[in-house]
Amino acid sequence: MPERFPESLLIKISERLSFYDDLGIRLFYKNRGAPQSQIVAAPSVESVSTPTRQKIYYEDAALPKTTRKPELPNAAQSARPAAPPRFAPSPAVAKLDALPVSAGPSLFESFDKVPGDTLLKIRTDLGECTRCKLHKTRNNIVFGDGNPKAELVFVGEGPGHDEDMQGLPFVGRAGKLLTQMIGAMGLQRKDVYICNVVKCRPPENRLPEKDEITTCSPFLLRQLDAIAPKAIVCLGACAAQTLLETNRGISNFRGQWLEFRGRKLMATYHPAYLLRNPSAKAEVWKDLQKVMALLGLEAKKSKSAEAGKFS
Ligand code: URA
Repeated sequence: MPERFPESLLIKISERLSFYDDLGIRLFYKNRGAPQSQIVAAPSVESVSTPTRQKIYYEDAALPKTTRKPELPNAAQSARPAAPPRFAPSPAVAKLDALPVSAGPSLFESFDKVPGDTLLKIRTDLGECTRCKLHKTRNNIVFGDGNPKAELVFVGEGPGHDEDMQGLPFVGRAGKLLTQMIGAMGLQRKDVYICNVVKCRPPENRLPEKDEITTCSPFLLRQLDAIAPKAIVCLGACAAQTLLETNRGISNFRGQWLEFRGRKLMATYHPAYLLRNPSAKAEVWKDLQKVMALLGLEAKKSKSAEAGKFS
């Protein structure tokens, strides 16, 4: 009988349901007719523990806590035994033994596509988000930008200073390089969609933490499902490890076609890494050429594109 429940418990249940609503999970309780506006505002992650199945575990070596680190050859391998891959590869994607090792319980397998989902709905559900601690230091949420029907989506790690100030992804130095990479592919930014794993800037550009990724990823998942691109390019280890649910270093699987919820996924190095290690641009260019082949694109006949240099 509802009268018997203490009010604090009712509030907790309502908050939890609101949290699931935000994630687009609406069907597992019956008789939940209350419109969004009547539901108590979503709590911060500090006050609500997320379900265990949504937690992901990274090796410290793969995701250092304090600063962004170079992503190239990471010899640190997982001590875990190889788990079977989650996504059955089509003939065009990597062989089983090339797929990454699972990082733990799946963050995504419980999320069904939200019927009729749109970027607008997802942005509305995200709201003025306070679900994780990143909200305390952000200036602007950086939701994503570009063509909502793009065939190609780039996923980065999280906003930096410039992105946080402007509310747009990849507008700083790394963003300029990404824009050049997109240009070298014969595209413009408005042709693709660009977003990040976390929508708020981690303080001092530290890597996003597990709880922040866990809390924010469902919105990324909904963005990818709503856009339904032909290809997803993960820029850097954070995006790749998050979507592939692996703790392996990106150099183990970059440049190969992998699969994410039935879509082709290519992991490559982050533009910020390329700024520090320009010699890696040639490898990234090879990866992007595979994406271009999939999309039937021809490289612009510019010197920079032909050299695989985005500058
Ligand atoms: N780096 C990212 O990963 N994302 C941005 O939006 C900017 C820089």
